Amino acid sequence: MELPILIVGAGPTGLVMALRLAKHHVPFRIVEKNRGPGEASRALVVHARTLEFYQQMGFAEEVVKEGIQVHSGRIREGTVEKAEIKIQDFGKGLSPYPFALSYPQDLHEKLLVKKLQEAGIEVEWNTELAAFKDDGEKVTAVLVKNGAQETSEYSYICGCDGAHSTVRRTLGLDFPGGTYEETFFVADVETDTENLRSNSLNIYLQEEDFFLYMPVRTTGMVRVIGVIPKAFRKDDIQFLDFQPDIEEKTGLAFKKVNWFSTYKVHHRVSGHFRKGRAFIAGDAGHIHSPAGGQGMNTGIGDAVNLAWKLAAVSLGKADPSILDTYEDERIAFAKTLVMTTDKAFSVLIGKSFRSKLLKKLGLSYAAPFLFSSSEKARKAAFNAVSQIRINYRKSGISEGRAGKILGGDRLPWTGDNFQPLHAQDWQLHVYGTAKEPLKETAAALGLRLHEFPWNKEAENSGLMRDALYLVRPDGYVSLALAEQDAEKLQIYMEKHALSPLQK
Ligand SMILES: Cc1cc2nc3c(=O)[nH]c(=O)nc-3n(C[C@H](O)[C@H](O)[C@H](O)COP(=O)(O)OP(=O)(O)OC[C@H]3O[C@@H](n4cnc5c(N)ncnc54)[C@H](O)[C@@H]3O)c2cc1C
Repeated sequence: MELPILIVGAGPTGLVMALRLAKHHVPFRIVEKNRGPGEASRALVVHARTLEFYQQMGFAEEVVKEGIQVHSGRIREGTVEKAEIKIQDFGKGLSPYPFALSYPQDLHEKLLVKKLQEAGIEVEWNTELAAFKDDGEKVTAVLVKNGAQETSEYSYICGCDGAHSTVRRTLGLDFPGGTYEETFFVADVETDTENLRSNSLNIYLQEEDFFLYMPVRTTGMVRVIGVIPKAFRKDDIQFLDFQPDIEEKTGLAFKKVNWFSTYKVHHRVSGHFRKGRAFIAGDAGHIHSPAGGQGMNTGIGDAVNLAWKLAAVSLGKADPSILDTYEDERIAFAKTLVMTTDKAFSVLIGKSFRSKLLKKLGLSYAAPFLFSSSEKARKAAFNAVSQIRINYRKSGISEGRAGKILGGDRLPWTGDNFQPLHAQDWQLHVYGTAKEPLKETAAALGLRLHEFPWNKEAENSGLMRDALYLVRPDGYVSLALAEQDAEKLQIYMEKHALSPLQK
């Protein structure tokens, strides 16, 4: 009998992993040491690529409806507004979700738990992974469930168990990097001040001070996040200690503090994301500064990447070597991300940058891509933060080129071509006309072939007329062929022992 997969941790990474495995009816358990979903709002920003994954899963619109679309960033010095960066629809034409969405992590996790329940799956709360052993054939794990110990066997274990990951530590994987000196705070507070524009992220800058604030929930809630002001630094600091200071600087009046936490920010990436039958994903594998709100979105991307590979191997629909591509594809991005967010963050928390920026604001000094309305700059900004630019071109399963699209690229959005991605399965796309031999080979391989009209959108997105694109279950192109070469397609599928997951 097929052993189940064990998912450890029901944060966003573990929950998305579970949802993607459930789609393919792969047996698994998801265990969480807490007694229910997280109560803290933590990660706030949901980026376009995550929403595209949720579109595949059928609930992107629900998330968008529950969240707040961020329309602009306002830079303030005291109560004076120095600049407004308009980001409403800044990804227009690039994604069906051309914006950044504010959606607190606690609501987000509750929604994912609800979606799992709708699929007939319950998270096993109050269940902690205590230890595990991988003998090469299977994983034997010791779980402590409501105080009672149980030992059981699994095909694979996925450590989605956060920064202090038991899975990572048991594997003996190092977690190199560093910790920023500053202490940061995050608070969710209620305010009745009308001063707050509901779709804006406010950035407060002063030579000595730096914090952001923005509305988080539908009414009257604001998230404040920043460095503890110098004058107030002490152990056991509470928001009340510096609330009047923040109120004065923001011009807001706070009624009630719902959540306050101080924390140190780290930047670390594990040396490996896989060892034998064990994987780590999300914060278990990489943690970085909150600059750009990338953390949670990256964990969700890890889960989406790993889930279909585990499903394919478990169902006998791919060569097990495909599992090696998880680390290759995701660790490269994690390393780049940690490096870039580290640079951006160090600049942002550095006093001299703030002071320079404040002096020059109004003289259009600031990063041109932020303030410029040029088409190129707008696209560059969106590509950089929304995670739609992530590609797996260097992966061992990425091949070929057709037009501007290479094997490993995200399938570009043309306006109507994402709908079939709901299948979360291998599929062929032709923009133009599919020829008979290709149709026959697709049918023989059990691959769904989708023909889209050749139009301006397809051309603008870099696709090539009548070319052949083999799309992976996670929406990335794996094979791009300028000719509809059915033989090459067949060779590719055979090489990796691939067949559709739902055949
Ligand atoms: C104060 C704070 C503010 C943040 N703000 C932002 C932000 O603004 N933007 C952003 O992108 N990110 C932010 N983050 C980071 C973001 O919350 C994480 O990137 C995200 O939660 C990662 O999700 P995850 O599922 O990988 O890990 P986690 O959310 O940490 O989930 C891991 C889960 O595993 C469980 N677990 C751990 N060990 C075991 C075990 N042995 N057995 C069973 N279960 C176990 C834990 O209880 C937890 O529920 C913030 C984090 C903190 C702490």
